[in-house]
Amino acid sequence: MIEMFNVWKTYPNGVYALRGINIKIDKGEFVYVVGPSGAGKSTFIKLMYREERLTKGKIFVNGFNVERLKERQIPQLRRNIGVIFQDYRLLPNLNVYENVSFAMEVIEAPKKTIKKRVPEVLELVGLKDKMAALPNQLSGGEQQRVAIARALVNNPAVIIADEPTGNLDPETSWEIMELFEKINFRGTTIVMATHNKEIVDTMKKRVIVIKDGKVTRDEYRGGYSYED
Ligand code: ADP
Ligand code: ADP
Repeated sequence: MIEMFNVWKTYPNGVYALRGINIKIDKGEFVYVVGPSGAGKSTFIKLMYREERLTKGKIFVNGFNVERLKERQIPQLRRNIGVIFQDYRLLPNLNVYENVSFAMEVIEAPKKTIKKRVPEVLELVGLKDKMAALPNQLSGGEQQRVAIARALVNNPAVIIADEPTGNLDPETSWEIMELFEKINFRGTTIVMATHNKEIVDTMKKRVIVIKDGKVTRDEYRGGYSYED
């Protein structure tokens, strides 16, 4: 599903963000990516959907050789990846339904398919009764659910999330995690960067620790601590 071979990323200012990452994530896995601030977690995630270009190495995502893609092929890659951010990134002037349907319009899905699929996915995230609300009328947790619906609507093979619970209170964070677990049970691969120690320690999933741009630990049913 996702493979990295000796991946290096140097930013133009000379910062070595990633230094020789080798990783394999199989279809259906649920993986936490943890590590100190500035360790390279966001960079690791951004390389997967080609928000950033790698400096050296190879990345494969769902059969795509990410670095080799031409500009015009990037939308094909991103169709296979749903991305979720800490700050939701909803379109403020569109309501819940429109924020989600927009993601299908972009890939030119047929109108009939959109009409059927959007309520389905809003039902899955528990927001069917808020379809007409604007983002600023929703709580943080609800806004994140909209973002998750938008990420899911085109049935991506993988969901990647960068600190999705970073702006949410503990109880809401748990609700969001339960939703991610439900999505993972349905077969979607999930890769999530997080600082939420309690969640990582409780969920007992695979944990990849990144420190100074390197993988320092990779454990199945692991915990958060990276002080080793
Ligand atoms: P994390 O997500 O673990 O906090 P990042 O991947 O955001 O780490 O950052 C890794 C390192 O790369 C940090 O030193 C950060 O300052 C640097 N960095 C991140 N993005 C950029 C950028 N666009 N330009 C220059 N340096 C960057
Ligand atoms: P996070 O900690 O959530 O990964 P950051 O606050 O590190 O996010 O980064 C926010 C944005 O600023 C990102 O788009 C990142 O690429 C960019 N960025 C981070 N560090 C630097 C840096 N040293 N120079 C330039 N851009 C940076």
